[in-house]
Amino acid sequence: MIASAGRFPPLGLGTWRMGEAAARRDDEIAALRLGLDLGIRLLDTAEMYADGEAERIVGEAIRGRRDGVVVVDKVLPGNASLDGTIAAAERSLRRLATDRIDLYLLHWPGRHPLEATFEAFERLRDAGKILDYGLSNFDIGDLRAAEALPAGRGVAANQVLYNLVRRGIERTVLPWCAAREVTVMAYSPLEQGRLPAGGALARVAERRNATPARVALAWLLGRPGVVAIPKAARPEHVRDLHAALALELDEADRRELDHEFPPPARDAPLEVL
Ligand code: NAP
Repeated sequence: MIASAGRFPPLGLGTWRMGEAAARRDDEIAALRLGLDLGIRLLDTAEMYADGEAERIVGEAIRGRRDGVVVVDKVLPGNASLDGTIAAAERSLRRLATDRIDLYLLHWPGRHPLEATFEAFERLRDAGKILDYGLSNFDIGDLRAAEALPAGRGVAANQVLYNLVRRGIERTVLPWCAAREVTVMAYSPLEQGRLPAGGALARVAERRNATPARVALAWLLGRPGVVAIPKAARPEHVRDLHAALALELDEADRRELDHEFPPPARDAPLEVL
């Protein structure tokens, strides 16, 4: 696969669970816009999220400021035939109210042959409707199968579950992607708000005058070839996440975190949420 690490901004904002309640809609748009104001230049969404409503929220957030924002979107595996992928992308573009998706991913491996999805990705790219394509929730075996296809060499990213308490990808998926300069996009980097509040995270946070969430994110941002896409609907959370870009953990911090959240000792199937 060809070089792509460093092609994307290191920090983005996710949108899962956005668009599910009309009463929260304005706050969700405001949170994404605040992120863009602060300089977070990547937004992650999917046709699956709130049945397309999350894409509409992204569309509103980027209205009038599309340039310079990297929009990541995903096709559902059930739609990922040749014609189905193209039709899904067209629908997503309408909801996003834009003319292009920067990075278009297959949300997880499904029943349609990957050749067909890749063919659609290439046609969409040739038409300028997507700029890059990639995969999500692809374990090492799926990645090897993808690489065996000619279009597999064009894969720019693999979006997978990765955070302090889910380090399984460090055994195979992460090194495999790094060797091919395929960006690893870490989803649920805050374990959906369930990271342990005490222990090493709290100690490092206290030492660094930061929050545990900021420390957990800084830990990911310090890893080469990894992009993190936390989701935050509250403005104070968006500001806290943005501050992670300026937090450089040192050797002692990392050792302490490794001690409590050790790297995996053996290979295991890719975890998903
Ligand atoms: P997450 O980012 O790990 O956690 C989100 C939760 O953390 C929210 O409850 C949020 O609260 C809270 N939070 C945010 N900033 C915080 C802070 N500074 N301090 C304390 N809490 C904070 O979970 P996620 O939404 O599952 O993952 C992120 C994105 O990854 C998704 O939105 C989606 O775009 C993507 N994703 C992709 C896949 C896939 O299969 N490809 C799967 C899962 C997720 P508030 O919202 O109240 O601010």
